[in-house]
Amino acid sequence: MIICYKKEDLRPIVDGLKLKNQSIGFVPTMGALHEGHLSLIKKGLEENAEMVVSIFVNPTQFDNALDLEKYPRSIESDLELLQTLSKDIIVYVPTVDDIYGKTITSEHFDFGGLENQMEGQFRKGHFDGVGTVVKRLFEIVQPDIAYFGKKDFQQLRIIQELVEKHKLSVKIVGVEILRDKDGLALSSRNERLNKAQREAAPFIYQTLKTAKKRFGTESANKVSEWLEKQFAQQELLTLEYFTIADEANLQTIRRKTKTKSYRAFIAVFAGDVRLIDNIALN
Ligand code: AMP
Repeated sequence: MIICYKKEDLRPIVDGLKLKNQSIGFVPTMGALHEGHLSLIKKGLEENAEMVVSIFVNPTQFDNALDLEKYPRSIESDLELLQTLSKDIIVYVPTVDDIYGKTITSEHFDFGGLENQMEGQFRKGHFDGVGTVVKRLFEIVQPDIAYFGKKDFQQLRIIQELVEKHKLSVKIVGVEILRDKDGLALSSRNERLNKAQREAAPFIYQTLKTAKKRFGTESANKVSEWLEKQFAQQELLTLEYFTIADEANLQTIRRKTKTKSYRAFIAVFAGDVRLIDNIALN
């Protein structure tokens, strides 16, 4: 396995692959890898001659210093895990300096309004940070195909928009959400849940599934009211937002239309651990 800590180390490898016309697959991550990440990488390994995985906890996408500080980091076990998948993966583990130089700031992006919904409302500047790092990583890695999880569906839509707006020559593939046996969406943040919180957390997906059923016959407003009541009775879980939105523009729906695709999105706190999830409704 090749591990690069600087873009200068990665550049000749990328140049060599480009010369040989070999397709480069790419999965950007913030590390603390789990099976969810691996599902993206496995798909990439099947579809490309070479896979690049980046591990970088991007400071500019955190609006909360404590969240950034407490974000799990486990580079040694991450590398071991990647090694079990394939000996050929190229891992890029940049320093903050390698990506940002001396000024750790985001560029400002207009993602056609996608950035103002949900995560954008509750995490100020989050998508400017995401856009900045992903654009820079794409410039360095020059992938043919990049894989993003539907776990962060809004992020996936924003990256699709970024690629379209900036005419980047990379194909974006969305990958289904991987869950634990009890339904909890896999997330690096799950490591930070205590035992009681971990036992309470599957309620998030259970409630999403029931919301989906109810949406068959009820209005989005009615479903939201019902869901808020369910969470009001939860001791360990605090609802931050729940919304039913149009998959294309991510705007909360007013009235159902048969031709459109909808998705329910949720963010919940278990103590100071913030969990997000979503479910396709049709
Ligand atoms: P992160 O390290 O949290 O930035 O995630 C890196 C990539 O893995 C993102 O594209 C995520 O959407 C994706 N991902 C994280 N968790 C899951 C999951 N449970 N299922 C599918 N993809 C995931």
